[in-house]
Amino acid sequence: VLEINNCSKKFGENEVLKDISLSVSQGQVVSIIGPSGSGKSTLLRCATLLETMDGGDLNYLGDYAAKADESGKSVYSDGNKLQEIKKHFGLVFQNFNLFPHYSVMRNITEPPILIGKRPKEEVFAEARVLLAKMGLSEKEDAYPFQLSGGQQQRVSIARALAMNPKILFFDEPTSALDPELTGEILKVIKDLAAEHMTMVIVTHEMSFARDVSNYIIFMDGGVIVEEGTPEEVINHPKQERTKAFLGRFQ
Ligand code: ATP
Ligand code: MG
Repeated sequence: VLEINNCSKKFGENEVLKDISLSVSQGQVVSIIGPSGSGKSTLLRCATLLETMDGGDLNYLGDYAAKADESGKSVYSDGNKLQEIKKHFGLVFQNFNLFPHYSVMRNITEPPILIGKRPKEEVFAEARVLLAKMGLSEKEDAYPFQLSGGQQQRVSIARALAMNPKILFFDEPTSALDPELTGEILKVIKDLAAEHMTMVIVTHEMSFARDVSNYIIFMDGGVIVEEGTPEEVINHPKQERTKAFLGRFQ
């Protein structure tokens, strides 16, 4: 579904991503772990076209969003193609990013109607199914400020799913939530994994990452230090940096 080859990214002189390669196949759940400032969010932002890469390729479903030229520099596809590629993925942020002046229903239905150009009735019917699945059927007319953080995050997951993405990205989906609300969001993501949703998740929840993922990537200082199955990376880390990082969660 997603392939990133040799991605590099600098902010001024600060080399934030160095030669990162990552491939995610259909139905796979990949978690990215690592200390603050290691480049996890920047990698997700590059993958989702919120940030441009300086070097490397970015492919979705075999179609390229960016391709490296002879010198390795990323050359992006034209705007129309990028617009098409953006329809393949959904994104869920730490801070929910709902429109505060839109109802729950409008937050979920506006993207498929405006961007997806799909019929209103169909989109509304699907949104109601998604809201029921998220346990929010009663809340379709509520505004974000009337909801708990966990409820707002479930709305933003429903909003991402309403576009029928081929892949969903999460950037620390629970880190703005109180501990008692974290579990409900992790449960929603586990249910999506059980339905074989393809996902890339940046998280600090190690036991969740171990349970939900097929593959774990540990980043530090802009590089992938260690990667493999949860059994390999979390239960039996080989690199000292991975061991030191995981030690903080014990
Ligand atoms: P956290 O766990 O705290 O969210 P992270 O692994 O997501 O950390 P990033 O947000 O990707 O880390 O940041 C990686 C590095 O890039 C940091 O040194 C950060 O200061 C820098 N950085 C990120 N975004 C920008 C930006 N827009 N402009 C300049 N520097 C940036
Ligand atoms: Mg981050």
